[in-house]
Amino acid sequence: MTSLADLPIRDDLRGLTPYGAPQKPVRIALNVNENTHPVPPEVIAHVTAAIEREMRSINRYPDREFTLLREHLAGYLGGGLAPEQIWAANGSNEVIQHILQAFGGPGRRVLGFPPTYSMHAIIATGTGTQWVEGARDDDYRLSPETAAAAVERTDPDLVFLCAPNNPTGTPLGLDTIAAVYEASRGIVMVDEAYAEFMPEGKASALSLLEGRPRLVVSRTMSKAFAFAGGRLGYLAAEPALTDALRLVRLPYHLSALTQAAAVAALEHAAAMLATVGAIRDQRDRLVVELARLGYAPHESWANFVLFGGVTDPHATFERLLEHDILIRDLGIANHLRVTAGTEAETTEFLEVLGRINR
Ligand code: PMP
Repeated sequence: MTSLADLPIRDDLRGLTPYGAPQKPVRIALNVNENTHPVPPEVIAHVTAAIEREMRSINRYPDREFTLLREHLAGYLGGGLAPEQIWAANGSNEVIQHILQAFGGPGRRVLGFPPTYSMHAIIATGTGTQWVEGARDDDYRLSPETAAAAVERTDPDLVFLCAPNNPTGTPLGLDTIAAVYEASRGIVMVDEAYAEFMPEGKASALSLLEGRPRLVVSRTMSKAFAFAGGRLGYLAAEPALTDALRLVRLPYHLSALTQAAAVAALEHAAAMLATVGAIRDQRDRLVVELARLGYAPHESWANFVLFGGVTDPHATFERLLEHDILIRDLGIANHLRVTAGTEAETTEFLEVLGRINR
């Protein structure tokens, strides 16, 4: 049998492990921060009709510029953003890959602040971009001073921030984003995959775009928008920045079916987002109840909670799995992460955890 090591693979890929959040058929999956509520039937009907219409011209390549989709995404984000400022791809993972293909690559480096979204480093490596790390402050926070000092020390071509941060849930102040932008000469990307779960009234990095041509804010329909299987991520930036991404994307990278389904889902944005309030409530409940059970949950502005005080994370993970509940062991000592599910899912998770705890 040929093994991977026998192949003439790139030297910088030797010995690496792929992204591998376990995919297991369980009753209660609270491991990858999806919206676990069922999609409303009227949205399913609307999206299905749109896909059926699209099938009549499936013999033709799709709109390479995904014009209608960019219009809908600009409308969804609001704030006077123009469609020319929007880019989209198959999940925000691909959006991030496009950014690194255009602005990173061999001889360039990207600065990140772990623990953060693991794919940032993996996509960096895949594009031949060096991943360099800055330290966080207490409780995973990132102050303007700490972040700017890391930029000055490493002089990166790109900086990746994550707001709120995955896997910690930690909020990130606009002052830190502005300070990083001031300190750096390169692209500053703020990954806002979980922005819709921030407390009401909190400003997004979108509000900083004006006058900052190197700033990029990425979003996804995979989380609050309940569209993870549809694979649609996007970003907002200067029109010139989206022109740079046209140089590296594959032609027709967004299929006609993806475009039609995403547009139809965006036409029902209110229905798709109707569960966000309930998910926030369950997240806040998790923080309270996990503390009551003797764990040490971290503040979260996202749809998940990272909690410490777990004596043996692997054992707790396995015990929960025996009860058909899948959460996430990220290899952070004494910590586990759980997604805020429906009220019933969250209740069952807390009950089982309380029982196996004793
Ligand atoms: N960014 C962050 C911070 C994430 O947590 C995720 C999904 N786990 C993504 C981006 C990628 O999501 P998608 O490719 O589904 O848009």
